[in-house]
Amino acid sequence: MSKEKVMEHNTKKIIETENLRKLIERLEIDIYGIADMRLLKEMKTGIPTDLEKIVNIFPYAIVLGAQYGKLGKKASGGKTALFLEEAAFSIMEYLEDKGYRQLIIHTEDEFDPINRLGFISLKILAKAAGLGWQGRSLLIISPEYGPLHRLIAILTDLPFQVNHIIKNDCGDCRKCIEACPQSALIFVKFSDHPLNREDVLDIRKCLGDDGCLVCLLACPWLKKF
Ligand code: SF4
Ligand code: SF4
Repeated sequence: MSKEKVMEHNTKKIIETENLRKLIERLEIDIYGIADMRLLKEMKTGIPTDLEKIVNIFPYAIVLGAQYGKLGKKASGGKTALFLEEAAFSIMEYLEDKGYRQLIIHTEDEFDPINRLGFISLKILAKAAGLGWQGRSLLIISPEYGPLHRLIAILTDLPFQVNHIIKNDCGDCRKCIEACPQSALIFVKFSDHPLNREDVLDIRKCLGDDGCLVCLLACPWLKKF
């Protein structure tokens, strides 16, 4: 390809990235960020997967988050999930139209329902996309909105400037652990995030994101409506 063609091609990509950012802003998502998938090749997956291959095809993840109360305090997790899903489909439509690859990573993608592990962890993606830090409740805590209620991600090959990771700011707080009605959360000291979910959460005791929101509601970072 000639130098001019390469420049033209790169300019087109920059414009398409900017236009997608504008589209995302119009969707009124509470918070979104971009993760570099190439830094996540070692992450655990809910099913045996050739992650290296996936990352080579989809080097970026666009991660969308909704705060608790987005659709009114009584809105179910299902309604919030639907809101994010519709937003994700608009983004995928744009990417498809411009000839880029897209793969949705959904909360409902429970490939291992016993251990409640998805194909790719949305929380790992959200943390890498700078949406927030992973708190002692394992929820993603955004400094702006508090614990995020729902997440969704779209993997793509459209190039993006990635976001910075946010430092853990749980400090000495243990409110989520103390509030858990199932004693499912375990206090462990960590500077950034727990190395294994099992170290801090007994998944067999946890009532799950839809069955119980006690740890989310106990978090002092929760934005009050
Ligand atoms: S969802 Fe409920 S049961 Fe599970 S860790 Fe949070 S407070 Fe405990
Ligand atoms: S309740 Fe406290 S310890 Fe738990 S996630 Fe929120 S800030 Fe962190």
